[in-house]
Amino acid sequence: MPYLDQIQLRGKKVLVRSDLNVPIDQGTIRDDNRIRASLPTYQHILDQGGSLIICSHMGKPKGERDPALSLQPVADRLQELLGQEVKMAPDCVGDTVKTMADALLPGEILLLENLRFHPGETKNDPQFGQQLASLAGVYVDDAFGVVHRAHASVVGVTDYIQNSCAGLLLQKEIEYLGKAMRNPEHPFVLVAGGAKVSTKLGILTNLLGIVDRIIVGGAMANTFLRSMGVSVGRSKVEEDLMDQALQTMQTARSKGVSFYLPVDCLTGTDINASQPSGVFPFQDVPNDEMILDVGPATHTLFAEVLKDAKTVVWNGPMGAFENPSFSQGSVGLAQSVAKVDGLTIVGGGDTDALVHTCGLVDSMSFISTGGGSFLEFLEGKKLPGIKALGL
Ligand code: ADP
Ligand code: MG
Repeated sequence: MPYLDQIQLRGKKVLVRSDLNVPIDQGTIRDDNRIRASLPTYQHILDQGGSLIICSHMGKPKGERDPALSLQPVADRLQELLGQEVKMAPDCVGDTVKTMADALLPGEILLLENLRFHPGETKNDPQFGQQLASLAGVYVDDAFGVVHRAHASVVGVTDYIQNSCAGLLLQKEIEYLGKAMRNPEHPFVLVAGGAKVSTKLGILTNLLGIVDRIIVGGAMANTFLRSMGVSVGRSKVEEDLMDQALQTMQTARSKGVSFYLPVDCLTGTDINASQPSGVFPFQDVPNDEMILDVGPATHTLFAEVLKDAKTVVWNGPMGAFENPSFSQGSVGLAQSVAKVDGLTIVGGGDTDALVHTCGLVDSMSFISTGGGSFLEFLEGKKLPGIKALGL
């Protein structure tokens, strides 16, 4: 019984694993997207007469209690967003927490303290998983951000609880990403950018058999250009991946997949430069400069490649967009993807932040809440958290 709407919740204690690992600055939440994305599942459980017990990790406390990584600010924000009391547990397992969970009435909410205060969480310790399971009768996994991790609250807990299922957010992730992988409409364009080829080679390789076109931009494009013998000045290059980059382009050619690289770029002396040094064709990058964004001709080229797309999967910005001097290429790409009349799927922490900054969230079909899990799903891997639900 894999999905939430197939499970009887009335009068049940329902343990939801969410990804509420939001950025916090001195007790203030800087971005509450992950909390908001979790609300439909919570609301469904409350509406169905369940008692809601929420658990999540926050940061990397390495198995020890760290007050700076408490979920208390999340409890406060949740309370505002849901308009009802959210009780905060002092821990995530143990007698006090068990008593609080047992006393929870239908329609009430309890937020457990940071799972990673216990070493058993990331070790997938069976005893810790069992302690979590003892709090509830139903387990709901809604934490797409961690389904690629075999942790106790993602995997182990399912061995000890009667009913396990995917929540509404996880279901949406599986449906959108699954559709792109299994029966996409064509033309299908993959846009890959960002910092490193090493983290993206897996999805390039796996999607080569599915997509019609690939666009590569961002720092990762440098390695592809370099592998073709182009001098890229002081730009970031992953020397050890040049062979694989070349191989990927050859495979694309043999499969009839069009492969697009930037044709021009903005350069700077370093990533914090207050303005670009200039615009250059890709083969004329000055020796003492770095490629920090794609240029205007590339913007037009990529817009053209995307124009008639029916499916787009996009991960990774086109340049060092955090610096306004080098954000134009990424903003331009976001606008081109936003105009696509088809399924547009965006993933990755930085890409997500970029789309939010551009105010284009509502123009995308779906923005994944996953980073690593988004990539691993599209690499075609079986993810432990999804497998544990029998999906
Ligand atoms: P995501 O989090 O969306 O998966 P990545 O983490 O792979 O994306 O890449 C985002 C990072 O890549 C950003 O911090 C951005 O500054 C950096 N980046 C992109 N292009 C360049 C470039 N040409 N030079 C240096 N850094 C770049
Ligand atoms: Mg990133």
